[in-house]
Amino acid sequence: MDAPKLHLGCPHCGATNRLPAPRLSESPNCGRCGKPLLDGRPVELGDADFDAVVAASPVPVLVDFWAAWCGPCRMMAPAFEQAGKSLAGRALFVKVNSDDNPALSARYGIRSIPTLLRLERGRETGRQSGAVPANAIVAFAGV
Ligand SMILES: [Zn+2]
Repeated sequence: MDAPKLHLGCPHCGATNRLPAPRLSESPNCGRCGKPLLDGRPVELGDADFDAVVAASPVPVLVDFWAAWCGPCRMMAPAFEQAGKSLAGRALFVKVNSDDNPALSARYGIRSIPTLLRLERGRETGRQSGAVPANAIVAFAGV
């Protein structure tokens, strides 16, 4: 079976890159301009592509369950991005919109947001609810 492909917009030139899910954690570069596609910034995943990426990731995955109406989620977003940059290549940072992806929220029993999950090879190895600063997210990642 071929690995599912993700569509990632390049932050530098705007080109859409089709990327096999397993390569996501390998700091891939843009096919057009050659600059890094991720820089450790969080990737938005959902019910359709979450499992393929998480199962293939050789590094721990940190998932931020959030929603647009959630004030603490918006407050934590910059901290999550900052933690992702400081751990680029050592952990994969993923954001899941809990409103748009009810199957994932139900499977992981997300009752309040923001909730952070730590997954390794698809297995949950940690969970933390409530907004936390970047240094706490880095500590939670434990990499
Ligand atoms: Zn580019």
